[in-house]
Amino acid sequence: MSHMSELQAELEKASGAYEEFASRGLKLDITRGKPANAQLDLSADLLNAVTGDDVMTPGGVDSRNYGGLDGIVELRELFSPLLKVPSDQLLAGGNASLTLMAQALTFALLHGTVADSRPWGQSPHKLICPVPGYDRHFTLAESLGFELLSIPMDSEGPVVAEAQRLAQDETVKGMWLVPMYSNPTGITITEKRARELAAMPAAAPDFTLLWDNAYGLHHLRDEHPEALDILSICAEAGHPERPWIFASTSKITHAGAGVSFFGAGPETSDWIRANLGKISIGPDKVNQLRHLRFFSDPAGVEEHMRQHAKIIAPKFDAVLNTLERELGGKGLAQWTQPNGGYFITLTTLEDTAERIVKLAAEAGVKLTPAGATHPYGVDPHNNVIRIAPTMPTVEDVELAAQGLVACVKLASYEKLLA
Ligand code: PLP
Repeated sequence: MSHMSELQAELEKASGAYEEFASRGLKLDITRGKPANAQLDLSADLLNAVTGDDVMTPGGVDSRNYGGLDGIVELRELFSPLLKVPSDQLLAGGNASLTLMAQALTFALLHGTVADSRPWGQSPHKLICPVPGYDRHFTLAESLGFELLSIPMDSEGPVVAEAQRLAQDETVKGMWLVPMYSNPTGITITEKRARELAAMPAAAPDFTLLWDNAYGLHHLRDEHPEALDILSICAEAGHPERPWIFASTSKITHAGAGVSFFGAGPETSDWIRANLGKISIGPDKVNQLRHLRFFSDPAGVEEHMRQHAKIIAPKFDAVLNTLERELGGKGLAQWTQPNGGYFITLTTLEDTAERIVKLAAEAGVKLTPAGATHPYGVDPHNNVIRIAPTMPTVEDVELAAQGLVACVKLASYEKLLA
């Protein structure tokens, strides 16, 4: 049989499998990087951790009243070793780290930073965006007037030579980075790469690493990396104020009802404190006290994260096993094998991602729109698909992966025969 007729036969097979899947009339959704209900239930006691009779922090602060801009000290001390930020340089905030990112960037745009008092907003301002990346980082920065400059990632993190080349331009003010179990690749930056970014020459005196450690504690396996101490790494490289560290308990306790954190060098933590003090009298200390009581200590957080892993690791494995079984060795796609976080990235043949997402939608499997992982919503190779396995049941995730695989095969053979 000729190569073409082999491909033709594969296409017919793929088309049949796709039709068969679509005819089941399923309704599945693997778009949302949200915790499943079973994960939210793990934190049920959080809601009873502060009662009307029991509102004082261990240090004797009434959590119900105004004040305490930095957040309650005992919670900052609890998260300090986990996030690798000294507690006096760590602020505990409101319910969303994304809001803290927006606020920090807005302060820099309006007032400049500790290393350069010229407001970023007074001249063109750009940010480096490793791709694929987190869509909300990109849309936030775009809405604040940043121009977004894509650079590639490899298995160790962002490609530093590319970042360094762009950072020679003084209007490039910084770079997004999800250091652990990145959204959406699941890749964790190596210490070597982090040291290179810390030392990297940049034209802007206040070039900033937007170190969004959203998944720093979200391991799927028993053996796992520790969060890097990026503050010490940057200080040793002569750039103590370079990292702005963000994190939250959104995917530890209750998504959108947790506690956010901001960590930075000594001067930048004073800078954010001064700026936040103009827009807030203090964060929700009642919620912070709930979190403090619920966890008690850092080991309490780590144990809690092991319970999350028990729920979501089988869902990741269901997707990864299906991909391997159906697509392994076929040369039609590659995928990441995350050891933590919330996502798997599937890389398909050039120019097929949109077609796959459309086919999947028509067969009852909702996927994140192709392009969402890239600045301005445009994936130049049209070949990246983000898979979010946490929210549905294991059975539904397995079915969705089977549907996805049917779409990948169909779109790939169509493409190869085009
Ligand atoms: N950062 C990353 C990389 C995320 O993936 C998410 C949520 O998906 C967030 C931040 C949002 O965090 P928060 O709920 O603290 O605003």
